[in-house]
Amino acid sequence: MTKTHRLDLLKNSISYFREAVSYAQQDTAETSQWKFAILHVVQAMELAFKERLRRVHPVFIYESIDKSDKTVSLRVAITRLRNPAIGNITITDSDKIKIEKAYDLRSQLTHFEFDHSHEHIELKFAEIFSFMIFFYRSQLELETSEFIDENQHNNVIQLVNARKELLERAQQHVATLENETVWICPECSEVTFIVSEQQCCFCHRKEAIVDCPTCGAENFEHDLIDISNAFDWAIDEGRVTVENFGMEEVCCPECVADTKQTIEDIKRSQYDEDMAMDEYYYQKGK
Ligand SMILES: [Zn+2]
Ligand SMILES: [Zn+2]
Repeated sequence: MTKTHRLDLLKNSISYFREAVSYAQQDTAETSQWKFAILHVVQAMELAFKERLRRVHPVFIYESIDKSDKTVSLRVAITRLRNPAIGNITITDSDKIKIEKAYDLRSQLTHFEFDHSHEHIELKFAEIFSFMIFFYRSQLELETSEFIDENQHNNVIQLVNARKELLERAQQHVATLENETVWICPECSEVTFIVSEQQCCFCHRKEAIVDCPTCGAENFEHDLIDISNAFDWAIDEGRVTVENFGMEEVCCPECVADTKQTIEDIKRSQYDEDMAMDEYYYQKGK
C-alpha cells in the first residue's frame, strides 16, 4: 500500500505541475488560462508537500495520527515541513506567506469570488512556479527533466523573469520616492503600496485609505473595525434609535480597545448620574 501511495503522490504532483505549465505558456491575455495554471500548480505543490512528509514517515501525511481518513491541510503541511523534528526544511516566512496566499487564491478561484487582475494571478503563478522548481530539485531530489521539458522550462522562466523585472522596476520607483509613505500591499505582499496614490505600483491593486475617525492615523479602509455593537441601540415604536456617544461606527485596530473603554466610561457615568437623579427625586418626594 505504501508503495502505490508513494508513486501516486509524486506522479500526481508532477502531472498537475505539467498541466499547470502548459496552461501558463499559452500566451493569451485571457485570465481563465491563468486560473487553471494556478489551480494546477497549487495542487502540485500540495501533493509534493505530502510526498516530502511521507518520506519522513507515512503517518505525517494525515491531519491527525488517530484518523487516517483525512490528509493534512496545506497550512499544517508547511508547519510540519518547517518543524526541525519533522521536515527540518527552511521555508522562509516570506515564502510561507506567498504559499498561503496562493492557496487562498485557489480557494477563491474554485468558489468564484474572483476579482484579481491578470497581473496579480500571473505573479502568483510565477512565485509558486519558482518555489516548486526549488522544491522538486532540492527536497524531492528530482532532475529538472523529470518534471518539466526544457522548452517549457525556458518559456516559463522567461515569463517569471519578466515578472521579476516588473517588480524590480516597481521597487526602484519606490526607492526614488521622497516623503511618500509606502506600505506592504495587501494583494501582492510587496512593499510597493503607495499610500498617497491609494494604489500598489507593482500589481496595481487599488485600496481606499482612510483616516481613523478616532486617532486620525491612515489605514486601509478594510482594516477599520466596526464598533457599532458597543453603541446603545433601541427600537422605539418601530423606529430604531442609536446612541453613539459621539463616536463613529468604525475605528482603527489600534483604537478599538480605547474607544470601547471610553464608551463604557460614558455609559457608566450616565448610569451613575441617572441613579443620582432618581435618588434626588426620591428624597424630594418623601
Ligand atoms: Zn501590490
Ligand atoms: Zn485610530
